[in-house]
Amino acid sequence: MTDTRPTILTGLIGAGIGASLSPPLHEREAELNGLRLAYRLMDLNTLGLAVSETPALLASARRQGFTGVNITHPCKQVVLDQLDDLSPEAELIGAVNTVTFTGGRSVGHNTDWHGFDTNLETGLPGAARGRVILLGAGGAGAAVAYAMLRTGTEKLVVIDLDRCRTDDLVRRMADIFGADRIVGAGLDRLKATLGCVDGLIHATPVGMAAHPGLPFPTRWLRPRVWVADLVYAPLRTRLLTEAAAVGCRTVSGGGMLVHQAAEAFRLFTGVTPEVGRMIEHFTALTSGVAVQARTPDPVAG
Ligand code: NAP
Repeated sequence: MTDTRPTILTGLIGAGIGASLSPPLHEREAELNGLRLAYRLMDLNTLGLAVSETPALLASARRQGFTGVNITHPCKQVVLDQLDDLSPEAELIGAVNTVTFTGGRSVGHNTDWHGFDTNLETGLPGAARGRVILLGAGGAGAAVAYAMLRTGTEKLVVIDLDRCRTDDLVRRMADIFGADRIVGAGLDRLKATLGCVDGLIHATPVGMAAHPGLPFPTRWLRPRVWVADLVYAPLRTRLLTEAAAVGCRTVSGGGMLVHQAAEAFRLFTGVTPEVGRMIEHFTALTSGVAVQARTPDPVAG
């Protein structure tokens, strides 16, 4: 029988996204909600496009009737100027990871901050958020800084190889949340700072399959410091494995990926997805096992 349901056309714009799990995550959840959704990858590398051509790619998606698209590295900031509207969060964070085309307008959203916050809440329940180090001040780091300060962190210490990026993020967040709650520091302060914080959030690419290794010597960690990694490929990074060996509570970036995708799905379709089901699916996709019983957050460490 012919499928007469209208197709919701969505996708992802970024570079090197060939292995993205977003297509199966979105398409399966849509199917289970009785929707017909196609999720296409628009990889700058494959298409031979420069980052500066992202706005043209976005305009092309809009012309082709896409409902919306996700935006990932390295395009999250270059699209900002091209959009008709920004959600309040995207404007404050200064980065967009979801664009919707609705009512003739393009609207930029940021669901990364919500994804991170929900993953920390469910993956490390009860984790103290008072004093925290944020290692990495790029697009993802900005969303994390916003999430942590919005949910009550009293002192966030931002450390990035690029001091200008650190200072820029500190300035922007200080304007929103107050200069007494966020401070920038050099990498040389990391070891000492680890002695007086509740947790460390890792938001650099180190540990991804393409950037193996450790962002700092894990012998600097103490068991009472929790560690949240944003990296999700691989799910158990060397940082998380070694932090767990020290005795730290840990959470991977897998849950953040699913929670930000769930929020984007809601924006694209108007339907609230079953996040637990999406987490099960993600776990199956990353472990190669069949989807079975539901657990609260199987991607938490
Ligand atoms: P980005 O824009 O490139 O920012 C990363 C920053 O970290 C850069 O400023 C980089 O400086 C700095 N850095 C690199 N190595 C460092 C080190 N050893 N110590 C301190 N700073 C260092 O990247 P992004 O888009 O923010 O993404 C960061 C990570 O988050 C990636 O692994 C990405 O996959 C992950 N992520 C996960 C999710 C999720 O849903 N789980 C969502 C978004 C992003 P230089 O540029 O000078 O090297």
